[in-house]
Amino acid sequence: MPITTEDTLRWLQQVAIVLHENRDFLTQLDSPIGDADHGVNMDRGFQAVIEKLPTVAGTDIGSILKTVGTTLVSTVGGASGPLYGTAFLRAGIASSGKRELYEADVVGILEAALEGIKARGKAQPGEKTMVDALTPALVAAKEAEAQNLGLSQLLRRASDAAEAGMRATIPLLATKGRASYLGERSIGHQDPGATSSWLILKAFADTCA
Ligand code: ADP
Ligand code: MG
Repeated sequence: MPITTEDTLRWLQQVAIVLHENRDFLTQLDSPIGDADHGVNMDRGFQAVIEKLPTVAGTDIGSILKTVGTTLVSTVGGASGPLYGTAFLRAGIASSGKRELYEADVVGILEAALEGIKARGKAQPGEKTMVDALTPALVAAKEAEAQNLGLSQLLRRASDAAEAGMRATIPLLATKGRASYLGERSIGHQDPGATSSWLILKAFADTCA
């Protein structure tokens, strides 16, 4: 069974719920290596997304994801707004006109989102950012696609890989974003953006389980 527009809307609603529940946690993570606003930023952005969703009811998945992107760009201050905004915009372009997503479509969306973040943030893996959660997620999704594991397994493996990537940011030295100002003192802390990336993918896997 493919992912439908209804699944996509349920996923975004779930993302808003989860980011709201994790608002303080994400902000706490952003406190030692940032400016303690990541949870506030993400919660504000996805509450705005939820308010926008009625305007995209009946459209295709690409239009929905593009609307998420423009909403995040216009409502989220901080680095994460343009980064996630670009990710969702690129994901929307990758799924333009589609009302159903199959394995290859989901891989294409993840790849487009990650490429968007890397381009926008000039970021590479290993720099202690959201890229470190999304890169292993894409690898896992591609492997699951090659093994014909089906969509729910593909999303679960991507989410689990993002979680491992998120934990692997703890010993990393930050070289991008605010955390990079701390130099060596950024070591030993989990990256907030990698954590929100995992939560977004986990919500996707949970919605499509
Ligand atoms: P700000 O750093 O402006 O306060 P947020 O706190 O909302 O914005 O987001 C911080 C997160 O953004 C970081 O944890 C990191 O994952 C991500 N990030 C910051 N700069 C970059 C970048 N250049 N490329 C990729 N991700 C980045
Ligand atoms: Mg911050």
